[in-house]
Amino acid sequence: MQRTKPSSLRAFLALDLDDDALDVLSAHLRRLRAMPWANAVRWVSADNLHLTLRFLGDIAPAQAERYIGALRRGLTQVADLPGLSLRVSGPRLFPRSSHPRVIACLAESNATLTALADLAEACATGIGLAAEKRPFNGHITLGRLRDPPPQGAVLPKEEEGTLMRPTAITLYKSELSPRGAIYTALHTFSLRSQL
Ligand code: ATP
Ligand code: MG
Repeated sequence: MQRTKPSSLRAFLALDLDDDALDVLSAHLRRLRAMPWANAVRWVSADNLHLTLRFLGDIAPAQAERYIGALRRGLTQVADLPGLSLRVSGPRLFPRSSHPRVIACLAESNATLTALADLAEACATGIGLAAEKRPFNGHITLGRLRDPPPQGAVLPKEEEGTLMRPTAITLYKSELSPRGAIYTALHTFSLRSQL
């Protein structure tokens, strides 16, 4: 007899960005998509822009519920969440310009962002997931390279970053499709109101 595959969902926790930030990022996307090498990149749709705090992968619905509960408790301990602002760079090859996988805007680390990433990680191991081996490196992916870095893919250098004020922390379900991932919010913690 064939066993029924237990239902699972692909999930990740992310920061949602404010409208001004989304305008800046969309402008980056428009400029980059007009580059001659733009076809070498799978660009993120403007609606899907986010900063991942923790990729959870395939989890059971009950684990998603436990994750949300653990986060709710933990978020009360994170200082100055409503004041969270991030200095975010212009588009860069990431993680290394010599071996890039994506084009992303990089968030400068700060105490609140680090506390959030640490909490996201602690809650993940708390629901039984393996610890993340790679250090947290906040970034907003604009596009994913299909092939080796496009020849002559020179990104504009910017002296100053843009200040972004994330509006919420959302646990997303991600459904992969050939036409791009479809994200659905499972739970949102607003950073603007009392948590
Ligand atoms: P696609 O995989 O089709 O390009 P996507 O990357 O937008 O779509 P997911 O793969 O579900 O969708 O990823 C959701 C978020 O989690 C993205 O920000 C992605 O960069 C991040 N992510 C995905 N896999 C990992 C991973 N193994 N480690 C860390 N972050 C990941
Ligand atoms: Mg992916």
